[in-house]
Amino acid sequence: MIRHHPEKDMMLEYAAGTLPWALGLAVAAHLQLCPRCRQQHEQLNVIGGSLLQDSDCEQPDEGAFERLMKRIDRSAAESAPAEMKQSEANSRLPADPALVNLPRVIRKLVADNLPLKWQRVSPALKMTRLNTGQEQYEVAFHRIRRGGRTAEHDHRGQEVILVLHGRFSDADGVYVPGDFLVRRPGEIHRPIATEDQECLCFSVVEAPVAVTGVLGWLVNPFLSFRPG
Ligand SMILES: [Zn+2]
Repeated sequence: MIRHHPEKDMMLEYAAGTLPWALGLAVAAHLQLCPRCRQQHEQLNVIGGSLLQDSDCEQPDEGAFERLMKRIDRSAAESAPAEMKQSEANSRLPADPALVNLPRVIRKLVADNLPLKWQRVSPALKMTRLNTGQEQYEVAFHRIRRGGRTAEHDHRGQEVILVLHGRFSDADGVYVPGDFLVRRPGEIHRPIATEDQECLCFSVVEAPVAVTGVLGWLVNPFLSFRPG
């Protein structure tokens, strides 16, 4: 049973269309797996629609999910060869047991990122990055082999994890497909896949912020030196 859901603020931003779309992908995929949040999302849409009606604004003609699917189409069109049609991409989805029952929004993203190139991070862990065209976020699949223990690690940016296949545990509990977790910077975790099958997770991580631009100017004493 799914026990971990996106927080209310994130659901509101998703419904309003203001959530960065890399995060929106994780929320949309969770909604496809979680009837409880789907219902909450529909209620938010009804409330949002009636607020717009009251304020005499034009009613939005599409929901957050449709907007997201269009964004994927646009980013795929920018990054993939123009001649590759969606149906061709779908038919090339790898016959990979972990990728069989993916939520529609993730399946589409995978189709746009073929062939997937899995990198070995450690004996227990492989990952592949998924291009979404949004550079502030690193979007990836992580797969932990059955019973595999990953290294203890933390993040410089916030990480959203959606379990898609199999289960993993950490010091706080066991997570099943559909569970939506947010790990904040500094939180240390060490996922371990259960013994029965490998575990596939979708993750969205805020890219580490390089010290450049205004911040670089502020912290770099040489640049802040003003002659004369
Ligand atoms: Zn939920």
